Amino acid sequence: MKETAPVDPADPAADRAADPAARPARSGPPLAPGAERYLALDLANSDLAFPGGRDVDLLGTPESAREWLITRELAPAETVLYDVCAGRLRALRDAVRALLSARVEDVVAPADAVRAVNDALTGAPSAALLHWDDVRGPYRAQAHPIDQIVNHAIAVLAADAADLLTAPDAARLTPCGATPCRRFLVRTHASRQWCSTRCGDRVRAARAYARRTQGKAD
Ligand SMILES: [Zn+2]
Repeated sequence: MKETAPVDPADPAADRAADPAARPARSGPPLAPGAERYLALDLANSDLAFPGGRDVDLLGTPESAREWLITRELAPAETVLYDVCAGRLRALRDAVRALLSARVEDVVAPADAVRAVNDALTGAPSAALLHWDDVRGPYRAQAHPIDQIVNHAIAVLAADAADLLTAPDAARLTPCGATPCRRFLVRTHASRQWCSTRCGDRVRAARAYARRTQGKAD
């Protein structure tokens, strides 16, 4: 099908306009409804698909994953991420997406996705650990700062996913109806089917185009 709507890439400038705070701008398009309240929904929506076969994974590299965490205030600005950290975030995202899909389809979720969220929930120590050596004696410290940051972020995201799935909002979860978009949203009203004005406009433009070409064929 011919794409009639303009292809608009992830536009960080739009976010900067909406969020004048000094914090670095969030990458990616405006949040889908619900993602402003649920970080887990924001996480699930971080693998973007645009018309024309263009994909943008906001967690695709350690640098982009770092930016994603910092702009969601899930990591301090000085954080350095490794590839394995970005990979863990992507793995959690896969699990959360599987859970959201199962909730939308009203089927029992895959056990490994439930397990992945529970592992993330329980994987972060809630307190600094006790250490003891002959120079300093007993003291408390984080075991490994980088691991701690990522473990903490993953635990927060997993807890949020569990909250979302068990909240009344879960009944209004839906995937965006605009191909090829794969974002989820929490419907703000019963008939809402699109994650964004852009996706809605694209579907309307495609329908109008189909009507025009249908008219010519008759
Ligand atoms: Zn969409």
